[in-house]
Amino acid sequence: MHNMFKKYGLLVWLSLILIAGFVFTTVASYIVSSDAIQQGLSEQTLPITGDNVYSEIQKDILRPVFVSSQMAHDTFVRDWIMNGEQDQEQVIKYLKEIKIKNNAISSFLVSDLTHNYYHANGLLKTVKESEPRDKWFYRVRKLSSAYETNVDVDLANRDTMTIFINYRILDYAGKFIGVTGIGLTLDTMKHLIDSYQSRFHRNIYFVDQKGNIALAGNNMKNIRSNLREIDGISSIAAQILDNRKSESLHLEYKTATSKMLVNSRFIPELGWHLLVEQDMNNDIKPLQNIFLINMGISAAITMIALLILLFTVRRYQNRLEKSASTDPLTSLLNRQAFDFVFQQALLDSERSRQPMCAVLLDIDFFKKVNDKHGHLVGDHVLKEIAMIAKRSLRESDVICRWGGEEFLILLKNCTLEKATSIAENLRNTIANNDFSRTTDLTRTRLSITVSMGVAQCKDKETEDSVFERADLALYQAKENGRDSVYFSE
Ligand code: GH3
Ligand code: MG
Ligand code: MG
Repeated sequence: MHNMFKKYGLLVWLSLILIAGFVFTTVASYIVSSDAIQQGLSEQTLPITGDNVYSEIQKDILRPVFVSSQMAHDTFVRDWIMNGEQDQEQVIKYLKEIKIKNNAISSFLVSDLTHNYYHANGLLKTVKESEPRDKWFYRVRKLSSAYETNVDVDLANRDTMTIFINYRILDYAGKFIGVTGIGLTLDTMKHLIDSYQSRFHRNIYFVDQKGNIALAGNNMKNIRSNLREIDGISSIAAQILDNRKSESLHLEYKTATSKMLVNSRFIPELGWHLLVEQDMNNDIKPLQNIFLINMGISAAITMIALLILLFTVRRYQNRLEKSASTDPLTSLLNRQAFDFVFQQALLDSERSRQPMCAVLLDIDFFKKVNDKHGHLVGDHVLKEIAMIAKRSLRESDVICRWGGEEFLILLKNCTLEKATSIAENLRNTIANNDFSRTTDLTRTRLSITVSMGVAQCKDKETEDSVFERADLALYQAKENGRDSVYFSE
């Protein structure tokens, strides 16, 4: 790992910087957007929903309260009770009128003196304290405020909900003499709740002052429990139930899977708390998808950038390595690089017991070529000899520019006899080549000859010793008239 870091230090640093940059920007934008969404939900969307529901409720509730108040303050009603409930038809007619005019489902009056329950169709019954269904009357009787609202959800038909206004009737001295009021359906409210729920995936429900769920949409209609006992929201139940102010509360709680934002307000007309809650996850989900896509794109960009960089660096390195090991004029290996190749080849040949030969090649009277035709032609001749040698040797053989106009050829897997014959062929090819044809600089035929010395590498022989023997053979060739191949025994 440490090594890798050393070798690819730049790459590692760059990727760290890229990844850190991408991660930072995506995470930051995710946090900022999700905060904005949450803020929008809790400070605008949910309160507005609450406002809408509340104003619809007020429309529905204020009217019956107003009507009931008028009934309770009606001098006819009060006088009629105080005069001993003489003509029942009179009050029944009155209740019928009220009911029809207000499109109410019921209108009623209960006298405290006789406990008679009158409604639009006549005298219904006498209320009794022992009767559970009449409990409400005894509650209103002790009430300190002028009226109470009593909402009845019709259990047989969940879609109709009835609100009863139980208004206290007082005589002129302020003494309690009975209860009157009307009952109206709250259909609109119920529809409102359901439509909000289905459109926005919001829960809208009411809890009474004890925390019991009083009214909820279809999705919660089976939940009949107390806020303090429902997982998650129980943690903020006290805050909700303690709020009696007109402003709404922005709250939140966590469930096992998500974060819920809650807007809660007290509705004095009902004595209930209206709760609007929304699962943050629904709104955050698209953001999470964008987050993942962003991360994916970032990762891909990082990968591509790194691959391009890696590729470029590799190519650059290769070029450097090559230029350090090759001769620029002939593109052959230079002497330093050859040293390494030769060591390897020597080891290989010892291991595999295959013979290997070195051939030293020197151009005859090269000085004269330079002197007569100039250095450029001299360079050209060097290039062409390198090319001819490359062409006439095997792929596995190695040629190197050994010195100014000297070349060294390594023939792997080759006996001295074979090497001498290969060298002889090469000498012949060069001698028969017209070097003027490939250069514009001289028109007359230009013949070049070379001399070569061949030596076979012996067991455990050093590099220097092999070259010395090849050099000696070359010297013999030069001595004996050049344009020839000599070998060292
Ligand atoms: P001999 O047959 O004895 O080898 O004679 P020679 O003229 O080749 O003698 P020598 O090997 O001493 O001369 C080498 C000459 O090669 C000297 C130098 O001017 C020339 N030479 C060496 N390197 C280059 C090169 O890169 N380009 C050119 N044009 N000439 C070079
Ligand atoms: Mg020489
Ligand atoms: Mg020479």
